[in-house]
Amino acid sequence: LERTFSIIKPDATERNLTGAINAVIEKASLRIVAQKRILLTRAQAEQFYAVHSARPFFGELVDFMISGPVVVQVLEGEDAIATYREVMGATNPENAAEGTIRKLFAKSVGENSVHGSDSPEAAQVEIAQFFAGNEIV
Ligand code: ATP
Ligand code: MG
Repeated sequence: LERTFSIIKPDATERNLTGAINAVIEKASLRIVAQKRILLTRAQAEQFYAVHSARPFFGELVDFMISGPVVVQVLEGEDAIATYREVMGATNPENAAEGTIRKLFAKSVGENSVHGSDSPEAAQVEIAQFFAGNEIV
């Protein structure tokens, strides 16, 4: 089994969609093996999205990610990384397939409801940024 890191973003927590998104996650046979609701600090958000620091939308992205609570999660399952990317749908909800989280819930390419790791290396780094080993069960 593989693990991936997920964030339910502020646009989704604001609309009380945590449970609805978790239902889609669980229906896709991903198990939520760690979860907490937190307010990211600016430093945490900047560190988390450091790979995008040169992109024109970086400032907007960090401001958005600290605009309200997020739910950080570890998901476990068969091919969890690819499975969750599929369940999330395309970054821009206009391009997201029917039934995906972003098609169902995202407001825009920026406020797109969820994050999911895009590689095993990223998953390992991202999980370690937010969870101790004994918090994942
Ligand atoms: P994530 O990394 O959050 O799972 P992703 O891998 O689908 O999303 P990335 O290209 O890694 O997409 O972009 C990271 C995040 O930056 C996006 O989820 C979105 O919130 C924001 N973003 C990406 N492109 C744009 C854009 N053109 N304008 C505004 N925000 C954007
Ligand atoms: Mg990404």
